[in-house]
Amino acid sequence: MGKPTLGNPQNTIEILKKYQFSFQKKFGQNFLIDTHVLDKIIRAADIGKDDMVLEIGPGIGTMTQYLAEAAGKVIAVEIDRNLIPILEDTLGSYENVRIINEDVLKLDLRKLVQDENGGKPVKVVANLPYYITTPIIMGLFEGDVPVSSITVMVQKEVAERMKSGPGNKDYGALSLAVQYYADTYLVANVPPNCFMPRPKVGSAVIRLTRHERPPVEAEDEKLMFDIIRAAFNQRRKTLANGLNNSDRLDFSKETIVNAIERLGKGTGVRGEALTLKEFADLSNYLAGTRT
Ligand code: SAM
Repeated sequence: MGKPTLGNPQNTIEILKKYQFSFQKKFGQNFLIDTHVLDKIIRAADIGKDDMVLEIGPGIGTMTQYLAEAAGKVIAVEIDRNLIPILEDTLGSYENVRIINEDVLKLDLRKLVQDENGGKPVKVVANLPYYITTPIIMGLFEGDVPVSSITVMVQKEVAERMKSGPGNKDYGALSLAVQYYADTYLVANVPPNCFMPRPKVGSAVIRLTRHERPPVEAEDEKLMFDIIRAAFNQRRKTLANGLNNSDRLDFSKETIVNAIERLGKGTGVRGEALTLKEFADLSNYLAGTRT
């Protein structure tokens, strides 16, 4: 095994030159060039030799080198085939790394974890391509991929939305979806100068630790998430109107108003005032009216 070398910007520039690599904007390519940030991510991900790590978008392999040092095994999924010869070079001395040249959104990750780790939960660590942050994270949770934690670099605003609660302007469907599946912990804010090229937006590392079981009980998860989506689709409307106007829901206005009143809320309440527990209760009341 070698020592990680790519956190140093000079070495990154050399590799990029050696392979005449050109960044592809459409793939959200902003490579990390800051060893302090890399150390922080690895520490927050809490990886040991018993762990298998799934990295999404290894780029030239900068973080992969750190992960390979810490973990038992690393599976890195990279869409850009121009990066594959580079990864073979930068990761060549690590025997515990497997690179898969694929679009992560097209891979059956559940099967991958089954085949590579006997179905035992893996830790996901990544500096994510920002244009597909939500589908990646929700795909991991909703697709029942065995994952114990997800430690990822995301756009700062997205990290804010993931960890927000009622009464906060960032609170919305993403906050509730993420918090239904995981505990959130903001590891660090990361400025644009830690990347090459510099992104136009601020970034943050967030750790999502998967709950063993959801913190609330929704009899019909799909109904609860349809209600949440309807509640935030029309943020300025009252919750009752938002639910009444949704194509996905077919409850009468009266049934909706009664259910909101059962929560102990006034009929003028907006969705953004409800906690996850209240959304679960509301969906259970509404599910009860169907039987
Ligand atoms: N991990 C590297 C680092 O920190 O320097 C690169 C991070 S860069 C923000 C995102 C990476 O994800 C790029 O290497 C990009 O090519 C890759 N990527 C983009 N879309 C992808 C997809 N659908 N599936 C797999 N990888 C993807």
